[in-house]
Amino acid sequence: MTDLRTSPPESLAELRRRYRLERERRVRHDGNRQYLAADAEFGYYAADPYAEAAEREPLHDIVDVAVIGGGFGGVLAGARLRERDVRRVRVIEKGGDFGGTWYWNRYPGIHCDIESHVYLPLLDETGYVPEWKYAPGEEIRRHAVRIAEKFDLYADALFSTAVTSLSWDERARAWAVTTDRGDEFLATYVVTATGTLSEPKLPRIPGIRDFEGRTFHTSRWDYAYTGGGPDGGLTGLSDKRVGVVGTGATGVQVVPKPAEDAGHLYVFQRTPSTVDVRANRRTTAREVGAVRDGWARERRENFLRIVSGEPADEDLVADGWTASAGLLEKLLPSFRREGGRTFEADYEVADAVKMNEIRDRVERLVADPGTAAKLKPWYRYACKRPTFSDTYYQAFNRGNVTLVDTADTHGIERMTERGVVVGDTEYELDCLIFATGFSVGGSGIASGALPVHGRDGVRLHDAWRERGPRTLHGFTSDGFPNLIRLGGVQNAGSVNFTHVLDEHAVHAAALVAAAEDAGALIEPSPAAEDAWLATMAEDAPDHEWFHAECTPGYYNAEGRGRPNGPSAYPHGAFAFHRLLERWRAESMEEFLRSRTSVPR
Ligand code: NDP
Repeated sequence: MTDLRTSPPESLAELRRRYRLERERRVRHDGNRQYLAADAEFGYYAADPYAEAAEREPLHDIVDVAVIGGGFGGVLAGARLRERDVRRVRVIEKGGDFGGTWYWNRYPGIHCDIESHVYLPLLDETGYVPEWKYAPGEEIRRHAVRIAEKFDLYADALFSTAVTSLSWDERARAWAVTTDRGDEFLATYVVTATGTLSEPKLPRIPGIRDFEGRTFHTSRWDYAYTGGGPDGGLTGLSDKRVGVVGTGATGVQVVPKPAEDAGHLYVFQRTPSTVDVRANRRTTAREVGAVRDGWARERRENFLRIVSGEPADEDLVADGWTASAGLLEKLLPSFRREGGRTFEADYEVADAVKMNEIRDRVERLVADPGTAAKLKPWYRYACKRPTFSDTYYQAFNRGNVTLVDTADTHGIERMTERGVVVGDTEYELDCLIFATGFSVGGSGIASGALPVHGRDGVRLHDAWRERGPRTLHGFTSDGFPNLIRLGGVQNAGSVNFTHVLDEHAVHAAALVAAAEDAGALIEPSPAAEDAWLATMAEDAPDHEWFHAECTPGYYNAEGRGRPNGPSAYPHGAFAFHRLLERWRAESMEEFLRSRTSVPR
């Protein structure tokens, strides 16, 4: 392949042209409408395969804090509240146990591709040291349980329960919480930790109802049918024709396992992922520095610094994420240049070198040139979520694995009772597995899926639809006292999402503790919200054009580019966490005093 470091500028122009064509080939006019939610008649795709909802009487009581969601966000909020001696913390969770993403996703091959020593939270606090650089899903799920046990979150938790409404009760100065199990209770504070990618989605394929074989979503793996477990051994598939739709981060982890066991595996790909080296291995406590207090905190700060594009003296994690941070450093100035909308030259070359490395990897590892050609990604790095695997490309060298490229037909065209149709071919299948991802923000309070009525009955979803989201730091809003949202809008994210959630949990717990001390409500003034909007707008990077040139996916609202308004803190998660620390030290008291509290 051309070495772009030494080749003439026309090579870059040619690459740009190729990327544009690949994008145009994939953009669909129906954008997000091409997907179906896994509810109503498709509800079985989202049903809990791991637990039956236990019978219980509805609750009518009062708690200090209701935490909505028992994934890492909820577990961390619970733990950080306990550290502040908050007594009655009730976590309400749809699943049958704590774990969130790691409760639901148990597909074969499941691992976290963020280093376990920075991904698993509260390692310093629990004394746990992971043994693998990239932990299997079950170990991560158990860690969520470990934290919940250590901080005594089981006592008040409600599982297999969904919150159906939140209404501010002015007289009680508390939130009235209702659930789908008939509970109606009061909570002085509510923390929402409903996740961002939690509701499974399906492609709206004509005939999807007609298929008579077995079918399920990767986040609800049907081991009763496939046999085996997360490590593989899917013996139930040995005489089956199996299809996997989707080759995102999940598909890349899943495919090698049924490839080992299925009679025949068809992988239906629309856009290939970038699949880089993972090099998972056992680690020792000594080599990760787990020999002194605070080691885990230090390591995850170092990781966050690097992946946020901040300078760091050393790279403790040293993996594919930190290696690609150099690209980000070269990219960021293009988003901040006055009248920009073009790349700095050194970024484009560095990106092309990286992408060529990945395309070379495909060529090296995949024996059949036709298959290798289909597996090569033609877009800029990080247009789609980068993935890592040491077994994915190799799976296509097996005689029982066929890659079916569906880019020209914009995905699977049709399903019949026997299988899947792409172009002129019907692929007959016994089982079709959807690795088709999740609705973005589908379960959050901003989406309206959970009705929230604040002061004077104002519905949060309506207020935000009219005026756009208004918050202080993304967590709290005027008119919705004592309601704290973790993650998502108007703060700062990162690939190491558990770290972000932990910082948010620390902040939420500090707010609750200080409000209790002051006898105050947690509620920003409109002026505080205006100031936060202004902080986000000032220096807001212009990166819509980058996403608009990318192939479609959930990163760019299926090809439409992302809204370029002030929807995030512009200087990244590392700087945002420092800002929160300063605010807690210098301004939190004043903030709470301004709302001390008689109802208005
Ligand atoms: P994604 O949304 O990333 O991928 C969905 C896949 O389904 C894509 O390959 C998409 O193709 C394909 N698809 C959708 N509709 C069709 C169709 N009609 N025909 C053919 N193909 C179709 O979901 P994932 O579950 O893979 O990942 C979601 C997120 O979860 C990740 O981005 C990551 O944040 C997280 N994750 C993290 C992991 C970790 O190790 N940390 C592991 C797994 C997931 P196209 O690209 O063309 O749209």
